[in-house]
Amino acid sequence: MRTIAAAAVEEAVRSACIEAAIEAAPDLIAAFERARGMEESPLGRETIERLLENCRLARTERIPICQDTGLAVFFVERGEEVAIAGGTLGEAIAGGVRRGYADGYLRKSTCDCLTRKNVGDNTPAIVHYDLVPGDALRIAFMAKGGGSENMSALAMLKPAQGEAGILDFVVATVEKAGSNPCPPIIVGVGVGGNFEQAALNSKKSLLRELGRPSPDPVAARMEAELLRRVNNLGIGPEGFGGRVTALAVHLIIQPCHLASLPVAVNIQCHANRHRLLEL
Ligand code: SF4
Repeated sequence: MRTIAAAAVEEAVRSACIEAAIEAAPDLIAAFERARGMEESPLGRETIERLLENCRLARTERIPICQDTGLAVFFVERGEEVAIAGGTLGEAIAGGVRRGYADGYLRKSTCDCLTRKNVGDNTPAIVHYDLVPGDALRIAFMAKGGGSENMSALAMLKPAQGEAGILDFVVATVEKAGSNPCPPIIVGVGVGGNFEQAALNSKKSLLRELGRPSPDPVAARMEAELLRRVNNLGIGPEGFGGRVTALAVHLIIQPCHLASLPVAVNIQCHANRHRLLEL
């Protein structure tokens, strides 16, 4: 059994919340640079240049990339041979979020969903746990803005709608979202499983390195087709028109009930803030 101190987890989460808000990850910068080369519209190219400049300023001035510093979302892979000492894993993650959002002067976005009163410390975080073999603890963190999350959608398609129905639903969801999720976006798609698993997979897919296709050849083929169709919509960077509406489409497929064909689309905005912690 390997023992990890709860305090070490809390400190790592605290830093991840602050660093992700301030410093764009290398895969996002590389995706912007590729997009700048692909964009045909002068205004679109100028907009991507401004987004790159925004990332540079955020890093050098130590200020957030965007004022909406998001809900804190975590995907945790906990090895079966990992013990947490001095507290629970859930308390450590919550403590890291509280301290990170306070110490980094990040906007707290979590509120009571009916009274709309701000909770004040950006908790509870949304935490998904997987128990896996081994003695490693991996925590993927994503700060998810409300503007892009609001444009997400889920459909229980008829099985006969098949691949064509899946592609049409994803493209229609992006088209309906228009400029609202602050494009260029990343489109996360979960196909199969059931209602909640499709949604979970759509969000989890956003954590894959931008520009790396799915290892599943069917998913990779569908990702390429979806990216082509989404980028033909003409929404463009920040909705000003242009070739680059999405930086990437990421898709996860898993088997489903023979009566069902669930499809979930989770849209991530250009402020794609994420970190992977390995403890
Ligand atoms: S959708 Fe993203 S970029 Fe737009 S305001 Fe929200 S967090 Fe910021």
